[in-house]
Amino acid sequence: MNLKDVKNEWINELSQPLMIAGPCSAESEAQMLETARRIRETNAQVPIFRAGIWKPRTKPNGFEGVGVIGLNWLKKVKEEYGFKTATEVANAHHVFAALEADVDVLWIGARSTVNPFTVQEIAMALRGTDKPVFVKNPVNPDLALWIGALERLLGQDIKNLGVIHRGFSTYQKTKYRNNPNWQIALDFKSQFPNIPMLIDPSHICGNRTGLADITQEAFNVGYQGAIIETHSNPDEAWSDASQQITPEVLAELIGNLKVRNSGIAGFDNEMGRHRTLISDLDFQLIELLSQRMKISEKIGKLKKENDIAIFQPERWKVITEYATQKARETGMSQEFIEKVFKAIHEESIEVQNSIMIDR
Ligand code: PEP
Ligand code: MN
Repeated sequence: MNLKDVKNEWINELSQPLMIAGPCSAESEAQMLETARRIRETNAQVPIFRAGIWKPRTKPNGFEGVGVIGLNWLKKVKEEYGFKTATEVANAHHVFAALEADVDVLWIGARSTVNPFTVQEIAMALRGTDKPVFVKNPVNPDLALWIGALERLLGQDIKNLGVIHRGFSTYQKTKYRNNPNWQIALDFKSQFPNIPMLIDPSHICGNRTGLADITQEAFNVGYQGAIIETHSNPDEAWSDASQQITPEVLAELIGNLKVRNSGIAGFDNEMGRHRTLISDLDFQLIELLSQRMKISEKIGKLKKENDIAIFQPERWKVITEYATQKARETGMSQEFIEKVFKAIHEESIEVQNSIMIDR
């Protein structure tokens, strides 16, 4: 069976759009039950409760998850509040423990998707079950690796598959914790339109303020749901405190989301896709410009220390030369490229000037 033939009916039995919420990490029975109770009390449509039991942390010696005891708490959440439950698995032991504890949905984390050995081990441990599995995008922007992980699961006859777009890690820190890089996720979506795709705004944003916009943007381009980290007391969370929200804030966010009517999805989605990609590129342009201006500041300081003139005509000559060459290579008009570079160069001189005046 081919990934293109994977059906998404399993997800349709759950509410549309599919919302998954719960804490980054299970911390205590009380924290889990209070979070679950408060999500229920808001009446928001959230059929699945998430919690990380085993946590992949960037550095050692931090909180690495409560381990198997947390599975009992997920069970209680299911019994007392009627949620389906979801957790991350990162090796065969996790899979066996989660299956034993009757966790309903599993996900493979971004740090596991990058490793074919890990994915293969998880896939083989799942063989013979019909567990729904969501595969998060790998931390690095590699579409083939993401698809490869799904193929490994399908190779073991795991067919209830979905993906989660949680953004991609970058060396240069930007306003996002993980850059959405919509292009990759949308390329995935256009190759495999039947595989349900959820957005994980929590790990993309790394903060609370951007969650609603990222989720709406994803819904505009036809994502089927979202997984949002929700905690009874986010400020005190043991992991990812800055991005978690309370159940009440979650309910408000969900209430404000506009779910697009699929009847006009053809036009809306294509338009939405183009707009999203343009915003994505604009964002990258702004980030690059800001990095460029920071270098200009450093140059300004050096010029000041060494008493060198700010405007150096030969430098401008070099810039116009590569602008001309790039215009030829890309087929854009030379006039346009020169206009853009002139504006950038002028601003860069401004930045250097202000350093001269300041100190
Ligand atoms: C998580 O969902 O808590 C998590 C660890 O996510 P990711 O694998 O996307 O970092
Ligand atoms: Mn997290």
